[in-house]
Amino acid sequence: MNEMQRESQWPMVSVAAAQQAIAAMSATPLGSESILTHHGAGRILAHPIHAHADIPAEPRSTVDGYAVRSSDGTMPRQVVAELTAGDGQQLVLAPGTAVRIMTGAPLPVGADAAIMVERTREQAGILTFDGNVRAGECVLPVASDMRHGELVIPAGAVLSAGDVGLLASMGLKHISVFRRPVVAVLSTGDEVYEYDEPIPFGGVRDANRHALLAAVHAAGCEGISLGIARDDQALQRMKIREGLTRADVLITSGGVSMGTRDYIKPLLAELGTVHFGRIAFKPGKPTMCASVGQHIMFGLPGNPVSSLVSFEVFVRPALRRLQGDPQPHRPLVQVTLASTINPSPDRPEYQRAIVAWHDGRLVATTTGAQGSSRLLSLRAANALLVIAPGTQPLLAGSQVAALLTGAVR
Ligand code: AMP
Ligand code: MG
Repeated sequence: MNEMQRESQWPMVSVAAAQQAIAAMSATPLGSESILTHHGAGRILAHPIHAHADIPAEPRSTVDGYAVRSSDGTMPRQVVAELTAGDGQQLVLAPGTAVRIMTGAPLPVGADAAIMVERTREQAGILTFDGNVRAGECVLPVASDMRHGELVIPAGAVLSAGDVGLLASMGLKHISVFRRPVVAVLSTGDEVYEYDEPIPFGGVRDANRHALLAAVHAAGCEGISLGIARDDQALQRMKIREGLTRADVLITSGGVSMGTRDYIKPLLAELGTVHFGRIAFKPGKPTMCASVGQHIMFGLPGNPVSSLVSFEVFVRPALRRLQGDPQPHRPLVQVTLASTINPSPDRPEYQRAIVAWHDGRLVATTTGAQGSSRLLSLRAANALLVIAPGTQPLLAGSQVAALLTGAVR
């Protein structure tokens, strides 16, 4: 039997110090790759996109109606032709004449306005209309969408569906985006079983690997499962080594506490450089971080809530940075507490809550008992309330900071 340790050998660092160390490790994005533009939504642009032409290249009509010269004033015009979008005709409009024109068609040379059909009448080839006509009326000017050389999308932009449309409209079939980090996830524990295995007395189903892989995927990365490793040092060493060869980032859960069969911390220290081994943070105090070359290793706690909250606060920002996101953190907003909560006396705590828009304010309702093994406290949560340590309850109606981890309801 191993001797039980009474005190952790790892100094406790603050949340800010841990986040700083992680930011330094993940500061350089992993590299870029070329992908098809229509696969770009959610990806992060590696190079800025500049307009290589004026769009539109020629003035176009924004209405169905008649292209005219505004200098002809209100006098009737002779209708000499019809232009439809895409018919390719390039006409010159003589004074006193008009052409029928459809939305999106280029104006004839000499025309500087379009009159919408609703204001017009055409009889025996003669156009008359109500009111005046102004130069530039109902015309999309040259370069009104974008001007040659203009910065259209900066590097680091997270591409939206609209951005994909914009890039396609510029004729770009391929774009350069940052590579997705590959993240290997390992569960540890003699008591941990696959969810489709029979569970013996004292066993638990592996929640962490599946939750972490889902979170890895949602963070824009590619996940690799390393399975479940029994609490056997040699086996865990082999699994960690495998993770380091296959992935950019390795995440383990469990085996980081003071138990006699907790081997992950000594293994990460043996295989890499430790950046911190404990954080003054709840839930997730035993979270460890080490690195080998460009590879980052996170030893997360075994309790399912602790591992996911630690992922959210420490791992996810690193994964976002590694794929070039200049804003790797979740939005931090101020919320009003719907009910009283009790802070932890000694550590900042990240409490799970549901934030909703209510009477012009963001109001946070707790997800119930905040035990670090109670996965139900994550059910429907879209925020982590950042609660400073203290001995006084925070009363309903108080304002606290919240990290938005999902959409506001
Ligand atoms: P540990 O950090 O290994 O001491 O584990 C702390 C607690 O989390 C124990 O009750 C474990 O049974 C539980 N646990 C560890 N790993 C997992 C996992 N992958 N899924 C669900 N619970 C786990
Ligand atoms: Mg364990």
